[in-house]
Amino acid sequence: MRYNLHVELHTLLATLPKIGPSLSYRLKLLELFDIEDLLYHFPFRYDDFSQSLAISQVKVGESVTFLGEVWSIKNSYTRFHKVITRAILNDSTGTIELVWFNQPWLTKSIKTGDRLQVSGKVTRYGSKTSLVAPQWEKKAMEIDIPDSAANLHTGRLVPIYPETAGLTSKWLRRMIAQILPEMLPTVIDPLPEEVRGNLLPLPDALQQIHFPKTLEEAQKARDRLAFDELFFIQVSVQKRRRAWQDKKVFRALKVDQNKLASFIDKLPFELTGAQERVIREITDDLQKPHPMNRLLQGEVGSGKTVVAAALSYLVSLNGLRTIIMAPTEILAFQHLATFTKLLEPYGLSVGIYTGSRKSLQKTVAGKQKKTSSHNSQPITKPDIIIGTHALLSQKLQLDKVGLVVVDEQQRFGVEHRSILRTRAKSPHFLTMTATPIPRTVALTLYGDLDISVIDELPRGRQTVRTYFVPQRKREDAYKFIAKHVRNGEQVYIITPLIEQSETLASVKAATVEYERLKKEVFPQFRLGLLHGRMKSKEKEEVITKFKNQKIDILVSTSVVEVGVDVQSASIMVVEGAERFGLAQLHQLRGRVGRGKVQSYTFLFTGQENPFTVKRLKNLEKIHNGLKLAELDMQIRGSGEVFGLRQSGEWNLKIASLSDLSLIEKTRDSASKILKKDPNLDKHPQLAAKLTSGGKEVFPD
Ligand code: ADP
Ligand code: MG
Repeated sequence: MRYNLHVELHTLLATLPKIGPSLSYRLKLLELFDIEDLLYHFPFRYDDFSQSLAISQVKVGESVTFLGEVWSIKNSYTRFHKVITRAILNDSTGTIELVWFNQPWLTKSIKTGDRLQVSGKVTRYGSKTSLVAPQWEKKAMEIDIPDSAANLHTGRLVPIYPETAGLTSKWLRRMIAQILPEMLPTVIDPLPEEVRGNLLPLPDALQQIHFPKTLEEAQKARDRLAFDELFFIQVSVQKRRRAWQDKKVFRALKVDQNKLASFIDKLPFELTGAQERVIREITDDLQKPHPMNRLLQGEVGSGKTVVAAALSYLVSLNGLRTIIMAPTEILAFQHLATFTKLLEPYGLSVGIYTGSRKSLQKTVAGKQKKTSSHNSQPITKPDIIIGTHALLSQKLQLDKVGLVVVDEQQRFGVEHRSILRTRAKSPHFLTMTATPIPRTVALTLYGDLDISVIDELPRGRQTVRTYFVPQRKREDAYKFIAKHVRNGEQVYIITPLIEQSETLASVKAATVEYERLKKEVFPQFRLGLLHGRMKSKEKEEVITKFKNQKIDILVSTSVVEVGVDVQSASIMVVEGAERFGLAQLHQLRGRVGRGKVQSYTFLFTGQENPFTVKRLKNLEKIHNGLKLAELDMQIRGSGEVFGLRQSGEWNLKIASLSDLSLIEKTRDSASKILKKDPNLDKHPQLAAKLTSGGKEVFPD
């Protein structure tokens, strides 16, 4: 049966014999591209078919394996053109019926007199005790006692894999069983002996996770592979942190405490204690000779922008400029307005650089390109340049940059940040996010960053009353909204999240909902529509109208909303709330609740299964972003919450980002290794693990 495939770890599956276009398409759906992917496609459970029993001993409900002789097998057809295949299997102690549905070809594969090993769950089918749709395997006549090594689909702990239509566990199992013996001798364990300790060697772990003899073996395999996943993250982030700390900033900054104090004094509001603390933490960093790499976390509305403004003022006092990158044009323009208002009184210039507008005030990018050398130019560019992804463009010279601020960092990939870092020549770097970061995540994914937290909202913020609204109460909610709009309040209606980024589908959904609400629900009010595919001028107009209360109800996709600050809005409706994470919904509702009137969030869903309802109802009771993020992590897995899957940076198949003890263990191991061997010169296998397909996992 077994033939040598002559494959290597990186042989593409699509090039193997018997894997045609349709199969390779299905493999891709499971993100299986090469042999290594297949080795790392782990079962999520095992069917325990290791118990061989005598047929006479069966009990309904048990998972069993029998070896017997087929006495008869035939197809019958039901009224609804279904095919039922029934076979009678006999061992020396008794007989049992085997039943399969819609597999008429079975009568060609299994013949009367065949010796068959079957595994399945004993059920009562009609009046008989049966195995319904059992796994089966033919056995040669001469083998009386099942040879456990030859068992694959029956008579053992049978691995059950993540599947997709047309690609079954049975297929995967056969394929993996075939490649394991060939590949394992070539697998090199990247863990240094001292780190591995009592954990299984890698080849053993790979063998045992697929085909364990016992559940304990499977668990040992999982322990080893989970360790790897977290350990590689730890080595990567710590290595990156070291590299970062070795760099020198292009000029150490001076922090003028008096001017800072007077800037803060003249603000239209008093800073919260938390804002003052994080400004201190950050200014401490700015004075150091190596670049800061800090994450500023604070709930929506906690006032991160003004912190960034104060810092850019300090940077400008050193004759350097600040670059601020925002994920959307709307936000960039909002920042432009805020920074201009706060900083123009100090004689600073603020420019904008987005896809639709490149206004660097005293000079434009086009003009600059024509000048022969930028060295000969006086500083003509603004002190603060605010923009979107457009800032990454080669056309924009990033010179004399003291500080880079990336707002709402979860919207950008590592590569965006690293482009800015390289082009601005290792400046101080501040990333800002509203996403709460559980401690375990801070210790892993964000292990290369220092973290500052604004854990206090400005005075006067209120708790947003939140309700899950079942379908039958939708009309009541609309009436409630109408009443409040008549009183001069404003409303956001967020349409369902269809993709992570703005797609035509989500634009269409928003447009359709807007038309429906305008015609059928709120014809008496002024409605506005906002989505990411609108021209930025149109977007600006809509936002301005909403801010100036010329629009009562703003229908918007979720993609555009981040960071928009409209104080007079007091009600938020989220359609398709089930598609959002709890922490994400919490961020959305942070858009309301900033004025004096009581604010509300209504969660609508398309599906009311008890699980969804229960999950969403957490928002009615819990108003703490960090708690909600942790709940999300338990319910949906860390990958969903922190966008790990999309970014492809990390792939946690086994380990959990909430496993504090394993996180600490791997963290210690990583730092010990790096202390002795900072560049991993003595651990080439390990170094190789930190790159994937030739691409640095962590460029800097
Ligand atoms: P976020 O942290 O979500 O980016 P913003 O920086 O947009 O929050 O701030 C939200 C609003 O709160 C803005 O209108 C800002 O002017 C205001 N704000 C910030 N800090 C304070 C404060 N200490 N007291 C009162 N209002 C503040
Ligand atoms: Mg913000």
